[in-house]
Amino acid sequence: MQLHVLGSAAGGGVPQWNCGCKNCTAARAHRLPQRTQASLAASADGKAWVLFNATTDIRAQLNSDPLLAPRSSRATPFGAIFLTDANLDHCAGLLDFRQAGELAIYSTQAVRETLLRNEIFAPFSRPPRAWHVIDDEPVDICELRISVIPVKGLLPSYAGSASMPGAASAYLVEDLRGARVLYAPIFASVDDKLASTAARCDAAFFDGSFWSDGELIALGLGTRTATMMGHQPVAGPEGSLEALRACPCPRRLYTHVNNSNPMLDPASSEAKQLEDAGFEVVSDGTVIELPEKVRARA
Ligand SMILES: [Zn+2]
Ligand SMILES: [Zn+2]
Repeated sequence: MQLHVLGSAAGGGVPQWNCGCKNCTAARAHRLPQRTQASLAASADGKAWVLFNATTDIRAQLNSDPLLAPRSSRATPFGAIFLTDANLDHCAGLLDFRQAGELAIYSTQAVRETLLRNEIFAPFSRPPRAWHVIDDEPVDICELRISVIPVKGLLPSYAGSASMPGAASAYLVEDLRGARVLYAPIFASVDDKLASTAARCDAAFFDGSFWSDGELIALGLGTRTATMMGHQPVAGPEGSLEALRACPCPRRLYTHVNNSNPMLDPASSEAKQLEDAGFEVVSDGTVIELPEKVRARA
């Protein structure tokens, strides 16, 4: 399986256009890597691709990745697009697919309903496009098997911020050779299901939005905590790092990192803590090729 990390930042990217925080200032001056908003492309054969989340950076992300270029006069590189939630930084890029003919979108019912309340997304649910609800049954597509892993999460603030089933999901991606990946860029807590799924994966991506719960408030960048936005912070006794410290997955990567997060600076003590625990902060453009393995599918 091939994985292309198209983007690795939370909403706004790094630098965010209206942000003068330390990380954004450093990224603007190229002292830290610039990052677009988090999105992942996966392929079993390097030809047919599946996309996880479509951000407002999708056009630039596609145009900078030769493997995702169209293979005929009009062609969509993706056999399907899977959405983890209805936050606009994960879905607004769908609008850039308006020139597509056939297009298959997959999400939970809660995400589908939330987005289709806005007429601007309605064309994506009409033929020749299709907006499928993914539930307990895995989807076999492009020689990948994709299963939804429910996680605790909130509806976006524009939809009322309610905690409800299906508001956020992770995805387990498996290929025919037995390679497994978990994509979990948003969750309110690591529960048993998420931890046990990560434990049997070859690589796992986790929500790295915020280092600490009150980070935005402490830096004067916002008024809400990570928890209020449906993100489990990385650090602290209640953080995802502690919850995943013993996870045996050989490649544990934080993605969807907000520009306020101190772990973005490789010289920081926070980045050192991650490294010591065996975690990485993934960067835009990272390509992961999972080795061929002989392993029966569970
Ligand atoms: Zn986001
Ligand atoms: Zn910033």
